[in-house]
Amino acid sequence: MSEITGPAAAALASLCSDDVIFLQSLPKAELHAHLNGSIPIKTILELAQQYSPSSAQTTEVADTIEKLKSGVILNDIFDFFSLMPAIYALTSTPEAVVITTRAVLQSFLNSTNDGVESPQCTYLELRTTPRKTTHMTREKYLTVVLDEVEMYPATQAALIVSVDRRMSDLDVEECINLAIEMKNRGRRVVGIDVCGDPRSGDMRSFTQHLSRVKDAGLGLTVHIAESTNNTTEDSLALLSCRPDRLGHATFLSDELKALFFEDIPQPGTECSSLSESELPNNAPANGQYKPCIEICLSSNLLCKTVASLDAHHIRYYLKNNHPIVICTDDALPFGTSCLGEYSLLLAQPPLGLGLSRDDVARVAQMGIDAAFSRPRD
Ligand code: 5GP
Repeated sequence: MSEITGPAAAALASLCSDDVIFLQSLPKAELHAHLNGSIPIKTILELAQQYSPSSAQTTEVADTIEKLKSGVILNDIFDFFSLMPAIYALTSTPEAVVITTRAVLQSFLNSTNDGVESPQCTYLELRTTPRKTTHMTREKYLTVVLDEVEMYPATQAALIVSVDRRMSDLDVEECINLAIEMKNRGRRVVGIDVCGDPRSGDMRSFTQHLSRVKDAGLGLTVHIAESTNNTTEDSLALLSCRPDRLGHATFLSDELKALFFEDIPQPGTECSSLSESELPNNAPANGQYKPCIEICLSSNLLCKTVASLDAHHIRYYLKNNHPIVICTDDALPFGTSCLGEYSLLLAQPPLGLGLSRDDVARVAQMGIDAAFSRPRD
């Protein structure tokens, strides 16, 4: 397992060895991990050695590697996306995608500590955006990734196909068609994700494609209300597709939570800021809608979308007994691991949330229950 740094490392270092053994032995599902954000630094360095780029890219790649080695410092969440072009430069051929995917799967599922097999998680739903480069088509990219994922049993690994908010309508359609075709061919695609810079894209035009996902038997997860730039309209468009899981949901308003989630108390007539014409046909959802919230603690702290653990929205969902899953997001820039993220639950404040072992075990089970590989309602 790669070295961890930052808040996760501080929380882990504060635990007694019994607590660490407890966390290591807890069955855990990692459901929100981006392939190109989860590459071990060792693999990045290997790829960099084989890389022969144009001079403009050389500097960008070298600068980014330096930042990744010394610990990334972000001013805000948008800074995060500037790391990706250099990583993409290193993973632009099918051969590099094989190396990368294999290393990421191993880091989650085969890690050893002091010679003892201690996987970070028991089940991994890895996600990635099918990328077209001069060396490969999107289909080739997905095929190569799936070949690696399918080396593991279905009880251990599966793939979510991401579409990026920056994509054109046609590209989104192509990616979703590909995901559905692959699933129909028996490949291990279990869901669709919407990711990418939260400032980009009109989610109202994405919904026509996202609404086909569930009929195809795939799960749907969306990054939602991740920054203060995301409008109510943006969240409404995404919620109208009834995603099974929500990524981050940091700034989802109380009004929308009350309107959509069955377990959050309805605030009576306080939904006044939303006019009827703004509401999607299927709201409010007084029925059985309880989308699991994918919580990425280190990511939120380091991207500065959340000021402290004390102010984190996880507290709201825990209090309301709403399903959540604890995830790493991008283990490389955020210097974390599944063990690191669970340490943030168990460590005493201010390093962690100070949950009891029973509560941590309950949270881990919620994650397992939220996997797309399980039959959904
Ligand atoms: P990939 O899909 O290429 O395997 O993984 C990297 C991509 O995932 C990034 O380019 C970005 O689009 C997306 N991504 C990674 N982390 C985040 C995040 O925290 N928020 C959002 N919205 N997208 C992310």
